[in-house]
Amino acid sequence: MIRGSKQREAILRVLGSGTSHPTAKWIYTEVRKEIPNVSLGTVYRNLRSLKERGEILELYLGGTFSRFDGNSTDHYHFRCERCGRVFDVDEPVNKEIDVRVAQKTGFKVLSHHLEFRGICADCQKGNMNA
Ligand code: ZN
Ligand code: MN
Repeated sequence: MIRGSKQREAILRVLGSGTSHPTAKWIYTEVRKEIPNVSLGTVYRNLRSLKERGEILELYLGGTFSRFDGNSTDHYHFRCERCGRVFDVDEPVNKEIDVRVAQKTGFKVLSHHLEFRGICADCQKGNMNA
């Protein structure tokens, strides 16, 4: 676990508190400012292992690219269809849905993904540079 820890720490630093939800490419660009010789493959590998260890989340959103989240607790997101930004939604995860679906289907429900979509506050104001 010693090898590659410098890259892992840099990735976690770049992800920060988890409000930006960046793509792997953006993370790679930022990590390279700290570690110029890091490869995209190394960044992907570290993202995968951080995800497997439950330290970060990979978001399953309707966008083209995977996005990553430094906040690994279960929470909902809102994606702006105009600017593409992804925001955290301050709303408790609805465990009742899991129970209802489990009762209806007989399946063992472990989790669910719920993505809100629409136009963010900045875009509603017509601020395209936000
Ligand atoms: Zn927007
Ligand atoms: Mn988030």
